[in-house]
Amino acid sequence: MDQLLEGLLQEIEQSGMPYDIDKIKAAYELAREAHGEQMRRSGDPYIIHPVAVAQILIKLGLDTDSLCAALLHDVVEDTDVPLEEIRKRFGSDVALLVDGVTKVGKVAHYSREEQQAESIRKMLLAMAKDIRVILIKLADRLHNMRTLDAMPPQKQLDISLVTMEVYAPIAHRLGIRTIKDELEDLSIHHLDPVAYEEIESALKKRKDEREALLMQVQDRIEERLTSLHMNVHIEGRVKSVYGIYRKMYMQGRSFDQIYDIYAVRVIVDTVNECYNILGVIHDLLKPIPGRFKDYISTPKPNMYQSLHTTVIGKEGIPVEVQIRTWEMHHTAEYGIAAHWKYKLGIVGETKGKNSLEEKLEWVRQLLEVQTDVKDAEDFIHSLKTDLTPDEVYVFTPRGDVINLPSRSTPIDFAYAIHSEVGHHMTGAKVDGKIVPLDYQLQTGQIVEALTTASATHGPSRDWLKIARTSEARSKIRAWFKKERREENIEQGRAEIEREFKRIGILLTGEKLERFLADVAKRQHFNSTDELLAAIGYGGIVLSKIIPRIKDEYVKLVRPEKIQLPENVTPRHIAGGIIVEGLENCLVKLSRCCNPLPGDEIIGFVTRGPGVSIHKKDCPNVIKNQNSPEYTGRFLEARWAGHVNKPFKAGLRILSADRYGLLADITSSLASMHMGIHSINARELRTEEVEILLTVDVAGTKQLENVLKHLRSIEGVREVSRSGVKTAAQKAGAQS
Ligand code: MN
Repeated sequence: MDQLLEGLLQEIEQSGMPYDIDKIKAAYELAREAHGEQMRRSGDPYIIHPVAVAQILIKLGLDTDSLCAALLHDVVEDTDVPLEEIRKRFGSDVALLVDGVTKVGKVAHYSREEQQAESIRKMLLAMAKDIRVILIKLADRLHNMRTLDAMPPQKQLDISLVTMEVYAPIAHRLGIRTIKDELEDLSIHHLDPVAYEEIESALKKRKDEREALLMQVQDRIEERLTSLHMNVHIEGRVKSVYGIYRKMYMQGRSFDQIYDIYAVRVIVDTVNECYNILGVIHDLLKPIPGRFKDYISTPKPNMYQSLHTTVIGKEGIPVEVQIRTWEMHHTAEYGIAAHWKYKLGIVGETKGKNSLEEKLEWVRQLLEVQTDVKDAEDFIHSLKTDLTPDEVYVFTPRGDVINLPSRSTPIDFAYAIHSEVGHHMTGAKVDGKIVPLDYQLQTGQIVEALTTASATHGPSRDWLKIARTSEARSKIRAWFKKERREENIEQGRAEIEREFKRIGILLTGEKLERFLADVAKRQHFNSTDELLAAIGYGGIVLSKIIPRIKDEYVKLVRPEKIQLPENVTPRHIAGGIIVEGLENCLVKLSRCCNPLPGDEIIGFVTRGPGVSIHKKDCPNVIKNQNSPEYTGRFLEARWAGHVNKPFKAGLRILSADRYGLLADITSSLASMHMGIHSINARELRTEEVEILLTVDVAGTKQLENVLKHLRSIEGVREVSRSGVKTAAQKAGAQS
């Protein structure tokens, strides 16, 4: 047995987890054979790389299939072993993982524009149907970064940049701190070697003094906790080089202004202990105000949990203390991989598999939608609303990534590239095959728009219904606006006439043209044709302007003759109201001033059928009577004949608050045989009460009499008429 395999098996054994050794051995044998004499650029045999990737995955606690896939991950791409053989010998799971890693690897060669990085990250996550694909890819990238020195200098820079922009953020989102930190440190070493050296030497220079300080704090904590019989693990930790780099170069701090370069970490068994220990530490060492952070009750988006506090150590030097449980610790180090290992068990558990996969799928989607959410509330919100991925990522034949909403079609794709590509598209290919234009694109596909140079060609109106992005639709509309004016006018006229017929605007000939010209002017078009053309190419949506048009029509037509809709019998107010010039019209008593027989009244032609009756001195009438907008709509009106049915009247009483007041008011009304509809009382700040009453009266004469009686009641200061409001309306208005 060769040394490489031996080393691998040793690590497997040390992991203490139930791996399928035979299966892993078989995968190793196939990989070694397939890669044969292949060399790494460093001159090492190629097989060293897949074995190293597998070893990284053992540390993450991944399962047998992941290890097999890691060993075989470059076999399909780089040798002549077909995927089918892997499926046959190792099962469809391993085959899917290998295939996934191969596909994800192809995303790497993309045009390196700033805004592409986020798309690439999302695409990688979206493409991996199984989160293990991403974990294998991260391990692959990590080993390639560790051996980057063998590459030519330009390659080193290119690869480091992609690692920094794409892979490290993915590791961060998945909470795998160990991999994230190492990827970042290796990248920055190549990208900014001078700063890297500077930080490294600063760390070295202060190592002894800082270590002494750390030990001193650590010892004091340990001593106190032991005396309290608390069982804890305490360790020191040093911030990663890139973590320091970021604070120095992006937040502009000096090395000595960074408080958390060195930290003491306290690891315990339960959450309760975390808070207990926080109390003990704050009692022991002076905390710096404002530096305490509770990531236990409010975890970071990548599931990180801990309590952070900064205390003053020896000679006034601040030291950060992190307190967490073992489970939180593993999540902090290994992120999603730890969840897998600890919560769900591992290897060969067929029963747990579906829920495992569901869980990973769930986490994958949530990580996908989460950019840098500011706080937990946002995070939970994005969790709830964005559980289904709503975007797809496809390639151009050149390898650029185009990001589209889900269910997008080749039309959206073409217009996303360029208007002219869209306008001249005749068809589309997906992964090399011709597809219909309403084909729904899937993440990871390579899409090609087939175009013609012919100037007579253009989009079809049907495309407006197929396209999913507003960008594509507005570009299509713009084309029609520019290229097809006559057609648009014709189309617009047909549409508006159809709509007029539907809503009962029955104008023809000269009248119709005048009305349309008026509508066009009101919608700020220079001519009727422009209006019709805009409707035709979809620049304005007819249903949005129709309500306004309808209002205009009513204004235009109503003053000439008011038509009562059929099936409505005019309701004659008791005693009747005569409105000048109108017979048999429907009248409504307005609520704002509540006119009673005896009041001077006026009619107003309403937009609905009929006329509303106001008191002549109603504030609404006074305000609007002379406005040019309402010319012709105020009509003379008067009461006619004898009143034989009661009217509702609203009364407002202001009185000193006293015992028995309501009883006196109601008995006074009863003595006058007045019916009461509603009565509401409320206390005012002036220590008075306001009482709102609705009563039945025959007219103003009777009402005057009632007012006089009420004014004579003890304590009553003021009685006046008011609008009629029902109790329900009042309650509604207040709520
Ligand atoms: Mn590889």
